[in-house]
Amino acid sequence: MTRLSRRNFLTYAGGAFATSFLLKGCLGNPPGFAQVKEPVAPPDFEAAKTLETNTVVLGYLPILEAAPLIVASEKGFFAKYGMLEAKVAKQANWGSARDNVEIGSAGGGIDGGQWQMPMPYLIHQGLITKGKKPIPMALLLQLNTQANGIAIAGHLRNENLGLDLSNNKGLFSQLKSSQKTFKAAYTFPKANQEFWLRYWLAAGGIDPETEVELLTVPAAQTVANMKTGTMDAFSTGDPWPYRIVQDQVGYLSMLTAQMWPFHPEEYLALRADWIAQNPKATQAVLMAIMDAQRWCDDFANREELAIMLSSRNYFGTRPEVLRGPLAGTYDMGNGQVLDDPKYAPYYWQDPRGSVSYPYQSHDLWFLTESVRWGFLPPETLDRATEIIAEVNREDLWRQAAQTMGVPASEIPTSTSRGVETFFDGVTFDPKDPKAYLRSLEIKTVKI
Ligand code: CA
Repeated sequence: MTRLSRRNFLTYAGGAFATSFLLKGCLGNPPGFAQVKEPVAPPDFEAAKTLETNTVVLGYLPILEAAPLIVASEKGFFAKYGMLEAKVAKQANWGSARDNVEIGSAGGGIDGGQWQMPMPYLIHQGLITKGKKPIPMALLLQLNTQANGIAIAGHLRNENLGLDLSNNKGLFSQLKSSQKTFKAAYTFPKANQEFWLRYWLAAGGIDPETEVELLTVPAAQTVANMKTGTMDAFSTGDPWPYRIVQDQVGYLSMLTAQMWPFHPEEYLALRADWIAQNPKATQAVLMAIMDAQRWCDDFANREELAIMLSSRNYFGTRPEVLRGPLAGTYDMGNGQVLDDPKYAPYYWQDPRGSVSYPYQSHDLWFLTESVRWGFLPPETLDRATEIIAEVNREDLWRQAAQTMGVPASEIPTSTSRGVETFFDGVTFDPKDPKAYLRSLEIKTVKI
């Protein structure tokens, strides 16, 4: 037995989910019950010899966005392209992921991995690193769309907050005047979770700067605080929103899939020095994750995916809390059940086209939204094309897609996905981000 196949064998035989499916096997699975199956492709030892390295360490957080990284490892896609020792490493939180990429794998950290936006840009520019040291980053691929939501604490059940808050403005001012200002949390500031929360509030006419209190709080603490009624809302990735409903801690006001259908969510980015030193291995990593994304997108694989991700090796949760979101079925916890694949996460293609391809127009939205709230200076928009060209390596994605033989119909012809439309009718035209900012009533930036 080679070292690799032995390692894979140990993963399967010794892993927590292996035990659980053996147990289920003993009890007799109903026909059609999916299990985590063998890797789909054998390791390519010849390809491995042609690469600069066979190892890379990619960080992930235990939310559905991480699925392509875990699948690439678990189903043998990394090994299929010669990355025999690729590792995925669970990060305690986003701050740890940032600190670990600053260290790099040589120092016991990570080479890159899963990120909220615009974290790779902020790390690249040295805006959130220790000592403000720039760590050049390369954005390679989008991991997924959707799979996020905003949960509301049970003590506000009677308010039945939904997607459109325009009829709830009174509640927010009433809470504020009675010293109980609405408190909403996310696990890392100035990135996706905070953007979704701010967009939702502002679209309903509630100024996130003055009418509410926004806080960075660890996920477990947020849920504990929601139980005791000291936290009112949590903006986060699945399975957290769904878990909050299942555990009867609260209900869902909305899914981000309702606010901005098929919106960009999280990304794969690596240190630029790793990419420069390992151009062939970079292509292998890209091809492996793209294969994994195609596997994840097949709804026939989603039961297996739920079991794989829920195992103690990865999320350490119950598969039940992943099945619903992966199928687009959400009990909102307020009597409403959304049940439509259009609410599910997508990993390879969605009705708007490529998910995996990192559209530069989406990076521009994240930078524009950062300007909207004063997180980045307005001049950022005058230099946005240059900044995006430095970080966004869509050229490397295209190269991998061509090598793999991805059909032309699945390769975008433009770096822009075009005009984006939000639930409130607001549009973002990547050709004129300032017009978007001007159209918004609630914002920090003066434009
Ligand atoms: Ca997310």
